[in-house]
Amino acid sequence: MDKVGFACHPSFIAHDTGPGHPERPERLLAILKHLHDTGLITQLHLLEPKPAPRDVIELVHPAAYVTAIEHACREGPTALDPDTMASPGSWEAALRAVGAVTGAIDAVMAGQVSAAFCAVRPPGHHALAEDAMGFCLFNNIAIGARYAQQRHQVQRVLIVDWDVHHGNGTEAIFLNDPSVLYFSTHQFPFYPGSGGRSQGQAINVPLPEGSGDAELLQAFTQELLPTAAAFKPELVLISAGFDAHRDDPLAGLNVTERGYAQLTALVRKLAEEHCQGRLVSVLEGGYDLMALPRSVEAHLKALL
Ligand SMILES: [Zn+2]
Repeated sequence: MDKVGFACHPSFIAHDTGPGHPERPERLLAILKHLHDTGLITQLHLLEPKPAPRDVIELVHPAAYVTAIEHACREGPTALDPDTMASPGSWEAALRAVGAVTGAIDAVMAGQVSAAFCAVRPPGHHALAEDAMGFCLFNNIAIGARYAQQRHQVQRVLIVDWDVHHGNGTEAIFLNDPSVLYFSTHQFPFYPGSGGRSQGQAINVPLPEGSGDAELLQAFTQELLPTAAAFKPELVLISAGFDAHRDDPLAGLNVTERGYAQLTALVRKLAEEHCQGRLVSVLEGGYDLMALPRSVEAHLKALL
């Protein structure tokens, strides 16, 4: 059995999005309870996320944006866009969410763990370099990719995004950068409206409402595998949203726990073939409090 890292922190629970918001603290509480109830937590190597220093955040986001987010959090609660809330607890959560990803990358690069999953809030893949949106403040995974390149001399990073929404922020940040390959499957047409076709070297596989395990696996097998083989990643990151699940209240795809296990196994094999299995997975969406923990369990078991 491989050693798999797991990063979570109480500050992620303290990121308050207000009453009735789907991106709520209970998402992480449900994951943690399920990992304890199933005993799975005892098989994981716990990683303590530290707050990311400013210079790491600024690998992707301009200093003025970082300052604006800090002020918005400290003076909040406030809405950064109709969906995206910042409150006093959000600042530490946002810094530690990035720190979870960079710490997991450190652990994987050092061979301390073979792979890692970061159960973070706020999520990141909609955040643009200079704009918060779609529940996201900082683009956790994009910062992780840049960090791996700068601190670990990783040349080529593959980001696989199976969240039901297109990761417009991640795509935009690396659009003109051949060293980071972005691959996304997502419901389309759907929020945020992008991802209808591939852009630059980013590969987008838009899927009609109702698509499920078979359609995602086909996209991964036919589109991701040959592209990854040509790209030869030195590190693989996953934007692991679980809102493509058939029970998710926000979206209309039909992925099951079994599908997430199969997708995980496929990406894990890809990482083993190209980069000694180096894989860091980061939570994005997933809003059904029953389906989310079960999907995370399937994902982690396929990594172990
Ligand atoms: Zn999503």
